[in-house]
Amino acid sequence: MPEKPTLASESATRATHALALAPVTAPASTVDGFVREFLQNLNFNRGVALSTSSATDRYFALAYTVRDYLMARWLEDLRRQREVQAKGVAYLSAEYLLGRQLDNNLLASGLTDIASEALASCGIDLDDLRQQEVEPGLGNGGLGRLAACFIDSLATLGVPNTGYGIRYEYGIFRQTFEDGQQVEQPDSWLAYGSPWEFPHPEAAQTISFGGHTETYDDGGVQRSRWVPGWNVQAVPYNYMVPGYQNGRVNTLRLWSAKATNSFDLRVFNSGDYEEAVRAQTFAENISKVLYPEDSTPQGKELRLQQQYFFVAASIKDFLDVTLPKDFDLTKLPDRIIFQLNDTHPVIAVPELMRVLVDEKKMEWEDAWAITQKCFAYTCHTLLPEALEVWSVDLLGHLLPRHLEIIYRINDDFLDAVRERFGDDEMRIRDMSIIGEHPVRSVRMAYLATVAGAKVNGVAELHSQLLREKVLPDFDEFFPGKFTNVTNGVTPRRFVRLANPELSALITDALGSGWVTDLERLRELETHAEDPEFRARFAEVKAANKRRLSAVLRERDGFEVSDGHMLDVMVKRLHEYKRQMLKILHVVTQYESVISGRVVAADLQPRTAIFGAKAAPGYAMAKNIIHLINAVGSVVNADTRLEGRLKVLFPPNYNVTLAERVIPAADLSEQISLAGKEASGTGNMKFALNGALTIGTDDGANVEIRELVGDENFFLFGMSEPEVEALWARGYKPAEFYQADDNLRRALDLIASGAFSRGDRSTFEPIVSNLLYDDRFMVLADYSSYIAEQVKVDAAYADQDAWNRSAILNVARTGFFSSDRSMRDYIDRIWHTPPSF
Ligand SMILES: *Cc1c(COP(=O)(O)O)cnc(C)c1O
Repeated sequence: MPEKPTLASESATRATHALALAPVTAPASTVDGFVREFLQNLNFNRGVALSTSSATDRYFALAYTVRDYLMARWLEDLRRQREVQAKGVAYLSAEYLLGRQLDNNLLASGLTDIASEALASCGIDLDDLRQQEVEPGLGNGGLGRLAACFIDSLATLGVPNTGYGIRYEYGIFRQTFEDGQQVEQPDSWLAYGSPWEFPHPEAAQTISFGGHTETYDDGGVQRSRWVPGWNVQAVPYNYMVPGYQNGRVNTLRLWSAKATNSFDLRVFNSGDYEEAVRAQTFAENISKVLYPEDSTPQGKELRLQQQYFFVAASIKDFLDVTLPKDFDLTKLPDRIIFQLNDTHPVIAVPELMRVLVDEKKMEWEDAWAITQKCFAYTCHTLLPEALEVWSVDLLGHLLPRHLEIIYRINDDFLDAVRERFGDDEMRIRDMSIIGEHPVRSVRMAYLATVAGAKVNGVAELHSQLLREKVLPDFDEFFPGKFTNVTNGVTPRRFVRLANPELSALITDALGSGWVTDLERLRELETHAEDPEFRARFAEVKAANKRRLSAVLRERDGFEVSDGHMLDVMVKRLHEYKRQMLKILHVVTQYESVISGRVVAADLQPRTAIFGAKAAPGYAMAKNIIHLINAVGSVVNADTRLEGRLKVLFPPNYNVTLAERVIPAADLSEQISLAGKEASGTGNMKFALNGALTIGTDDGANVEIRELVGDENFFLFGMSEPEVEALWARGYKPAEFYQADDNLRRALDLIASGAFSRGDRSTFEPIVSNLLYDDRFMVLADYSSYIAEQVKVDAAYADQDAWNRSAILNVARTGFFSSDRSMRDYIDRIWHTPPSF
């Protein structure tokens, strides 16, 4: 019989008592016990019998069973966090791209084998239930996935942390293709509910918007206050974030918008039913849908509402609920650091100031000194258009008091700048938090930089460019404020779960400690020299390819050909990432065969696999998706290639698909224009799963190459200084087009309508963009890319040498564990003490 974790009873005093007795270590668990709990959940929580239960019922019952096992630890962690009152981290992120939860929570609780056996004894296949889960896609791409990796690592390191964000009712859209073109479908991940969430409507916070500000006399002191125009309720939904087999569970708290009752009732009582419903819809729209933009801000009022909504609720939650009643707010920096994941949560800065000055009646200078210690800011971009700004009109209309506070912060800041740099008006204008062109607006990155105790970039190169190119005046003004923390990915999800066969091989060689100590992968270096180990590694890769093949057959009806190199480019579709370059390589190979210059039999068999969503309003990105699909249908059908070149583009790239594709990849495409990709994390996932990278010297590729060695990395293209120099000289794409016969033939083939049933207009915008207007200089790097791909083919021909390189990639990239990223944040930014 398994011992159930001791749970808090309903009476408050007894709850404390029961919690104090809650076991810290995992309760004993057996297959029989698991069966009993699973059946109980099926009967009592789903209200069905095993014989009549649906797969959904069974998935929910399984999820509840896993949840129950984690519960005592969660409650115990919360209790200890309250007791110890140590400094903690509040991670503020508008996105969490979590991926499926079931498998991760099974792994974290160490229950996978027991669950599998228990279900089998009921005639149920665990794998079938895994497939029932709709992944919560509450993020766009790298930024949201990073937040998910970070909270996993914090729990695994045992660092108390709350992740704060938004419970979008609809996450990132589900992508389908019609005639090769992207069509967006709503992502109704909550259609059947989620077994992983705990709603607390009774703990809702009231969040205000609009209205006006006024000054008043407060016993001789002139004070300002905000008289808001309307409110919504922010309802917290809690999710468990379990550490890896360490008995620790942190919390992810996502806010959902609900209309306030008073607002509702007032209108409703006036007899205007339609108006009441409209008001409710209006309020609840705030958490309705994730903005599907990636890397470009969308100046939408609703988006600013979302941002303020979640950070205001989170700050209130921390100050009013987490802190003890009598807490001395001058000590706030000893208790919390709010990490701003990009500019999306930066409105938290004036919000904390408003609370401290207007509500807690603190002096401005004291409040500002506190605020500057409570925030740190992570910048995720180098693209100027991705630096978020809000027009003063919009911000003042929605958050009038916050705008006043931002002005005051800016005035004080610019006074200090004048004092340091003199009346250099040019510099003052450049550094002002308020920009004047094209419209008066608030530069959120500047606000974050002025307010943050630290500002970090996300890879060495990115942090350097941030200091030298994007914010040089700020770096000079705030010496020591800028730092780097290179991104990482969680080895639990992206190696241990995604690649069980490789994990078994590694554990066989090194023991199981590597899962939480990824630098230990270094010990594989000696195994790379062992032919038998290389053969086993090759068998793992082959097995992963078979598994991917089965997934794509079932999911999309695709066939993955045996013996092909899998050449994979999966990431958001953006011109700077240059999916265009990859498809030009495919077109080049295709053209060389149909024109008879190359015999098909001489091609190294390859399948190019793409996965990418385009923002719905990003026309060029959607054109490129169309082109990739169009090239794919022509190439895949052309028998002259003798099946040696294939293009597969499974729709709806998400975390679940990433977990299948990446372990099967031979070649990882990381081909952004140098200086444009801040870090990338996909690049890390591939290297850790034994794919070789073809990449530019950009983002974290630089660090990957340094670690794995030049001989195990395919470098091509301009360096960042070369890009700058060419741009300064004047980039003339036509010169590259004229100078390279292969390039000319490839572009001409696309322009001829060969991939659009003879219609020359379909892809004309792409071709003319590349020839006349391309900020991302695809043609400038084409020759070097093609030449490097020739080397890739040659290297792949020697399978044994390739496998050795692949093993060395695994062995040397342990640095990219998000556990290491978290330690760096703790050392360089948070200074949080070791936890209890
Ligand atoms: C890791 C990941 C990303 C980020 O990929 P990059 O290549 O770094 O842009 C995007 N989407 C998903 C689903 C991921 O897992």
